Amino acid sequence: MDYSLDDDQESYRQSVRRFATTVLAPHYQSDDKAARFRLELARDMARMGLTGLRIPEEYGGQDASAVIAGLAAEEVGRADFNAAYLIINTVLISDVIVRNATPAQQADWLPGIASGATVPCICITEPGHGTDAAAMETRAIRTADGWTLHGEKTSITLGMDADYGVVLARTGGPGARGISAFWVDLHHPSVTRSQFDDLGSRAIGRASLHFDATPVAADGLIGQEGQGFVSVMQGFDYSRAVIGLACLGAAQISLEEALQWCRDREAFGAPIGTFQGVSFPLAEAATYLKGARHVCLEALWRKDLGLDHSAEAAMAKFWAPKLATEVIHQCLLTVGHVAYSSEAPFGQRLRDVIGLEIGDGTAQVSKLVISRHLLGRAFAP
Ligand SMILES: Cc1cc2nc3c(=O)[nH]c(=O)nc-3n(C[C@H](O)[C@H](O)[C@H](O)COP(=O)(O)OP(=O)(O)OC[C@H]3O[C@@H](n4cnc5c(N)ncnc54)[C@H](O)[C@@H]3O)c2cc1C
Repeated sequence: MDYSLDDDQESYRQSVRRFATTVLAPHYQSDDKAARFRLELARDMARMGLTGLRIPEEYGGQDASAVIAGLAAEEVGRADFNAAYLIINTVLISDVIVRNATPAQQADWLPGIASGATVPCICITEPGHGTDAAAMETRAIRTADGWTLHGEKTSITLGMDADYGVVLARTGGPGARGISAFWVDLHHPSVTRSQFDDLGSRAIGRASLHFDATPVAADGLIGQEGQGFVSVMQGFDYSRAVIGLACLGAAQISLEEALQWCRDREAFGAPIGTFQGVSFPLAEAATYLKGARHVCLEALWRKDLGLDHSAEAAMAKFWAPKLATEVIHQCLLTVGHVAYSSEAPFGQRLRDVIGLEIGDGTAQVSKLVISRHLLGRAFAP
């Protein structure tokens, strides 16, 4: 057994850290205050190869392993948690396209995602159906030359600014097998968007999208009709571990900042780090962060080896965002009144990571996946 990164992984991790520290971190708080998506962010991420991590080289991507994608998300999450959404979204969407789309569709869609010219989003949730997504009502109706989309998607990350969406819509009967995936131009006039006023991740934003007979050409269908739900859920199977590492990155940098504060800040004539009431919670945080990081990396390592990784990715998804929220909260308390100001990043990190306790599936959904793995399908509700 070997827990170390190899030389290539380590040097890649360091190069992303340098990029994230110098290019991304300076905008983390100002983008939140502006509460709008900066297009230059997508361009900067693309120049570093971070929007094309899982895209084959022939389409302008990095063809990176799942582990590398996770390390990139972790490093970006340390510097600008919201920029990590561009990794989370693009690894999921490009995975769905690479596994299911024809070579012609891939050649048409993937280079734009890799270059940052196309900002994609994933449209599953509806006003009436979140966790129970397989009950969705948005319909795709066949026309002479393709399809038209009818319905509303909501809570869509980057929904105000995305150029294209992978939209799940019903093409057949009830349940998951009646759902297909489409690549949809969101700039078409039949698509109207409305923005959420969110607690966190305001630089990325969420939106509702209304599709009013939105046309999709015949070659906008991704994969087979009726296979869309399953293929997107298979993508979540590993993007959940990438999410976990982005959250842990934000928690790890908070811990490092709190530890430095403990060395520098004095009370009662000594650095506060000498008080075990201060250092023990941070020791616990470091322990839990290490454990959760191993779970995330194991899920991605298993994905790279072609091993089953659903349970590990679900463990990563329910544990890491929750743990990150708790650790950042603890670090904020450790630093004290200074950390409570919006000039410090702790409050924003807290608001931001909470979103991923819900986004891409709640803790309960992850636990359903884990318990099904432990007990067998017969015990699924
Ligand atoms: C920051 C953020 C980003 C998001 N980005 C996207 C996106 O890009 N695209 C997209 O399509 N969606 C996105 N979502 C939506 C997200 O996927 C849904 O919010 C999520 O699936 C849960 O759905 P819901 O909020 O409607 O909760 P509901 O399904 O209404 O559930 C409410 C509560 O009941 C619990 N619950 C429901 N069913 C069960 C059950 N069977 N057993 C136990 N507990 C249960 C849930 O866990 C939850 O706590 C995002 C959400 C957030 C917050």
